[in-house]
Amino acid sequence: MKLTGIGASEGVAVGPAFVPATGNPEPERDRITEAEVQTELQKFKEAVEAVAANLSETGDRLRAAGSEGEAAIFDFHVEMAEDPELASAVEERIGNLESPEAAVLAVGEEYAAQYAAMDDEYLAARADDVLDVTGQISAQLMGRGASALEALKTPSVVLAHSLAPSDTARIQRGMALGFVTAEGSKTSHVSIMARSMGIPAVVGVGPRLEDILTAKTVAIDGGEGYAIADPDAKTVAEFERMSGALAEERAALDEYRHVEASTSEGRRIEVAANLGSATEAEDALEWGAEGVGLFRTEFLFMERDDLPSEDEQYEAYSAVARAFGEKHVIVRTLDVGGDKDLPGIDQVDEDNPFLGWRGIRMSLDTPELFKPQLRAILRAAANGNLKVMFPMVADVGELEAAKETLQECRRELESEGVETGEVETGVMIETPAAALHAAQLAEESAFFSIGTNDLVQYTLAADRGNERLRRLQNADHPAVLALIRQTCEAASAAGIPVGVCGEAAGEPEMIPKLLELGVTELSMAAPQIPRAKKVVSEL
Ligand code: PEP
Ligand code: MG
Repeated sequence: MKLTGIGASEGVAVGPAFVPATGNPEPERDRITEAEVQTELQKFKEAVEAVAANLSETGDRLRAAGSEGEAAIFDFHVEMAEDPELASAVEERIGNLESPEAAVLAVGEEYAAQYAAMDDEYLAARADDVLDVTGQISAQLMGRGASALEALKTPSVVLAHSLAPSDTARIQRGMALGFVTAEGSKTSHVSIMARSMGIPAVVGVGPRLEDILTAKTVAIDGGEGYAIADPDAKTVAEFERMSGALAEERAALDEYRHVEASTSEGRRIEVAANLGSATEAEDALEWGAEGVGLFRTEFLFMERDDLPSEDEQYEAYSAVARAFGEKHVIVRTLDVGGDKDLPGIDQVDEDNPFLGWRGIRMSLDTPELFKPQLRAILRAAANGNLKVMFPMVADVGELEAAKETLQECRRELESEGVETGEVETGVMIETPAAALHAAQLAEESAFFSIGTNDLVQYTLAADRGNERLRRLQNADHPAVLALIRQTCEAASAAGIPVGVCGEAAGEPEMIPKLLELGVTELSMAAPQIPRAKKVVSEL
């Protein structure tokens, strides 16, 4: 069976299908017999041990990769799995002839209800963790193995309704061969993650995903945008051939990795990487990144259940600053809202979240979030060449207010005797208002970076995640190009650089157009860098 969707990240793959558990599994049996009690008690004990071992391994791995905040979640999950009270509550139920898979789920529900009723917001949010853990123990008891993403031990194609950044972050390196999701578009976050992981993704296949969830093997082509369930031998051979050809194509681009790309007219174009986490820095340098054009800090906040402290943020920003040395690293302040929810912050449901309280709007309203982030950036700037950039700016007033908060943070740090570094401040041009007022914004900015993903969605009034609006999700639209031109003209008149960090920057057919409009820097998913440098060099 063939499913078509949106080709969101190039490449092909064939591999076993993996469907991560969503919600709790259905218990296979409700009751057991008296004679089974002893064996079932033993099975329960073994399932707890297996799940706890798996969780603690994931925690260790994340800690080794520098994701301390996320590792802490797993510490909590291990504690939960090994909780003696939870165990005795389950054992009691088994003694009363309830099946262990049903008993652990029931106890999980009880615990979760207790957590959810707590006044403390942090503890209330633990309800989902409990259900997650008891669901895994139940799945383990039913011989399905732990079905959470972190348990993926065989390289597989992941099939899911949708995948949040916190989901993709849990997958061990090399274990995801590709993604197929029912929801999403080219610029939704699962697509962005797939591109930075360098693996194929087909998103937006719609409800038909259900039809392939039972497949044993899946073949996907993330360039063309289709997936085939249980492919026959001929198809597998064809995919192997395509995969070989793509590998050759990539190898041929290797010579461009560390080139300093210039056009034939001698225009030097810097090609930088977009990062979602500090752990991607080394890979990005290997792909040839000449800097970081966009460090999406929100993933640091979304990968966990509580807010990262100023010190934790300082560590993450410093790690990237150190890795890149003299090369610039543009740190974008928190851009949640829209399709990105933030655990630990009260976000009211909005009718139009993409037109709602997101980006700089939220930051200016929540100094308790904004200031620690700015302080962390100013401190980390002492360790490298950091710049700060504000998302979703719609007018000069917002930029002025943000810069004022930055100055306030600098004064505070200085009076505390804390070391800081210089940071230039820039603006993302991703609302039509910012593009139309680029001349005014340029007076107050050291650089611009055009976020074509949002600029397209707001200019064309086309939700970036809606798979039915594919025709309009394209930066190559005269109205969008006109706004990009206007932005570049304003930047040039003010003598400031203007980059593009939206997905269009990595698209070979868009690069000549963007440069023609006056763009001076391109920033993209790291694996796309060599190809972009080749395109620039051949212009
Ligand atoms: C953009 O909008 O183009 C952009 C780069 O930001 P994000 O995709 O994180 O919204
Ligand atoms: Mg954006």
